[in-house]
Amino acid sequence: MVWICFGGVSFALLGIVVGVRIRYFASYGLLAGYNTAPPEEQARYDVTGLGNHVGNGLITIGTLLALATAAFGLGSSTWTSVFVGLMVGVAFLIVVGGQKFLPGARGPGEHRWLRRLLPERAFRALETGTRQWLIECPCGRTQDFWDTGGVRYKAVGEPRQLYACSACGRGRWHKVRKKGLGELGGPGNRPVP
Ligand SMILES: [Zn+2]
Repeated sequence: MVWICFGGVSFALLGIVVGVRIRYFASYGLLAGYNTAPPEEQARYDVTGLGNHVGNGLITIGTLLALATAAFGLGSSTWTSVFVGLMVGVAFLIVVGGQKFLPGARGPGEHRWLRRLLPERAFRALETGTRQWLIECPCGRTQDFWDTGGVRYKAVGEPRQLYACSACGRGRWHKVRKKGLGELGGPGNRPVP
């Protein structure tokens, strides 16, 4: 019992310390995957976004683990399971959410789980809605947003997204915008003008 609490607190502290270092001190060498990638690939990462994402996640997990340990020490099995459950959820979100910071890591395969999750009609509506949008590189190359693995439905605004452009071959900030009249219905892909 004492040793379980001791282990729990140690891991909680470790998670928080590593999280704070990545999040606030830009210790990106601690990011698994990024630290071993070759420099030209590292240049394509949205490393600030990834660092904030992973850092926040680790701090949250560390805090939840500390709470779970405290609940366990106080003998509340209900709260222990609640905090452990939340921890597993956050860990899942870190892994899934982290993908978007890896340029070009997305693809149509991203829609596979949506297809499994949603009824056919809802999935088609989502595809139709998303296909009204495109992603545009500063070099002028555009791509159907759905084909990049994105999802955008009944959305407003024009967010920016880091994406590996197939025309310039590197990760750049793309504009996500609604297609103009001439672009609707077309294949959605336009070569560099
Ligand atoms: Zn480009």
